[in-house]
Amino acid sequence: MRIAMIGTGYVGLVSGACFADFGHRVCCVDKDASKIDGLNGGVMPIWEPGLEALVKSNVDRDRLTFTTDLATGVKDAEAVFIAVGTPARRGDGHADLTFVFEAVRELAKVMKPGTVVVTKSTVPVGTGDKIEAILKEEGVADFSVASNPEFLREGAAIADFKHPDRIVVGAQDDRAQEVLREIYRPLFLNRAPILITGRRTAELTKYAANAFLAVKISFINEIADLCEAVDADVQDVARGIGLDNRIGPKFLHAGPGYGGSCFPKDTLALLQTAEAVGVEQRIVGTTVAVNDDRKMQMVERVERALGKLAGKRVGILGLAFKPNTDDMREAPSIPIVHGLIERGATVVAFDPVAREQAEKVLTGVEFADDAYAAAEGADALVIVTEWDEFRALDLDRIAAMLRGKVLVDLRNVYDRSEAEAAGLSYYGIGRGRPR
Ligand code: NAD
Repeated sequence: MRIAMIGTGYVGLVSGACFADFGHRVCCVDKDASKIDGLNGGVMPIWEPGLEALVKSNVDRDRLTFTTDLATGVKDAEAVFIAVGTPARRGDGHADLTFVFEAVRELAKVMKPGTVVVTKSTVPVGTGDKIEAILKEEGVADFSVASNPEFLREGAAIADFKHPDRIVVGAQDDRAQEVLREIYRPLFLNRAPILITGRRTAELTKYAANAFLAVKISFINEIADLCEAVDADVQDVARGIGLDNRIGPKFLHAGPGYGGSCFPKDTLALLQTAEAVGVEQRIVGTTVAVNDDRKMQMVERVERALGKLAGKRVGILGLAFKPNTDDMREAPSIPIVHGLIERGATVVAFDPVAREQAEKVLTGVEFADDAYAAAEGADALVIVTEWDEFRALDLDRIAAMLRGKVLVDLRNVYDRSEAEAAGLSYYGIGRGRPR
């Protein structure tokens, strides 16, 4: 099958490379020439485990190509996926569909009859209908529009794509269903469940999934606060409830609140969709508010641990919104670092891969070259992102390098006992009554 992917970001590049690895011929298109030039020279625009090798092996087999020219990209393609960004619109939180509609209008000029146009981007209910209307308006007669939302997680994107919990396809006609079934055939052979449904249902399923996960995170964060008040341990509570099959263990890690390129914008977009049709979504609305407040509460925690922040030096470990990515979009580290600085602290931060991206969005921060350098001379060390390399730090060495012996562990990576054995005062999240 010949496939074109419009948008070669996290989703487009990973999906394109995986489709090529299934044996399809894929052309990834992006209007960002520096990205395409880089990819044509073997340079990845993002940091994602396993991606470089996957791209290289499929480029070498002539199954994966990159171009800035849409006409070249979609030439002979039977399916064209749209994987451009759908950020939150400034001010109101609506999903901004400018990139999607621009891509569709450009596509209309060059696509061949019978093409199946598939949205992989996360788009609000009804976007498929609008795409259909645009294509008709632009004079295209013979086409199908389907929805195939993507559920991959950055940092585990290739594994998620190749071993999905499910594939959701919203397709109204036989041709679209047939083409998508063919594209995903290698996964059906591996028994990945496929849900074929209406286009609107597929579009909403993606938002419902992300909103539910956001609710789960905010729920356990509030339970963590309760644990501190009643001297209970949220790690054990999470395990105790997570072992219940009806609940499941994932997304029950108390921490500094969710961030990233999806949950914040998708929860807001869901609320906007609901508001537009006059349906209340109080649970998701509260989740957004709880999560917004969470970041400043983390700054207050550091302040409580240190007395006053003015004049203090704070080391930060981890800046990316989660481990194994360099993505800084809506990372909790951003409001936390800026909050610490606003209250008069000096911040020195280390992240294993996100420094370059972090430098674009953080102001007034010193960057360290490793975790120990971030600790050196600091009054407190704060773990913000749980990179694996922060899980086995030499705590005696950390304690020796810190000026104030304070470890604020916003990811519950360490146990209080091991930190205290190294002479550190330990502040986790929801690990009993703070001492
Ligand atoms: P991204 O910003 O990394 O990539 C989008 C790319 O599209 C950019 O490279 C941009 O230059 C390109 N682009 C925009 N308009 C274009 C056009 N007209 N022609 C060609 N290229 C164009 O975004 P992303 O993180 O890959 O997200 C894409 C979509 O997938 C979003 O809707 C997002 O919500 C959804 N999604 C993202 C993730 C994730 O983990 N990042 C997971 C699931 C779903």
